[in-house]
Amino acid sequence: MADIVQILVMIIIATVLLYFGYSLFFGFSHNSPPPVPRYNGPLEGTPGDPRTCPVCGAKLAKGERVKSSAFPTVNGTDRLMHIFGCIYCLSGDRKRICPVCNATLSPQEVLVARLFDKPGRSHVHVLGCSRCRKTGISK
Ligand SMILES: [Zn+2]
Ligand SMILES: [Zn+2]
Repeated sequence: MADIVQILVMIIIATVLLYFGYSLFFGFSHNSPPPVPRYNGPLEGTPGDPRTCPVCGAKLAKGERVKSSAFPTVNGTDRLMHIFGCIYCLSGDRKRICPVCNATLSPQEVLVARLFDKPGRSHVHVLGCSRCRKTGISK
């Protein structure tokens, strides 16, 4: 009889240890401190992320949009678009930089991108800015 009690106690201890092990593990992965922004502006976004401004790299909050205009499609699969920027770089708060030629753009200069309309998720590929697209630095 004493053996069964011992085994039960062992199982309970093992369960408790496992439980704490798990909460410790998940606690570490989820409670890591968020990056502290250095100023009262947007966080740095990941390039290519739909929530990231391709002109200045600002991470945009919900409702903040990148101003752009798309042209009618020529071949039915993709179309050209001009990206003007987000509220941060259009207002002059952030540097506007072309991801292709790294030139600092004036508010009048835009990025030229190709927009692939796909069901569910559309993909934007930046080709260059009005500067390097014109001078032919990039293909
Ligand atoms: Zn921007
Ligand atoms: Zn450029």
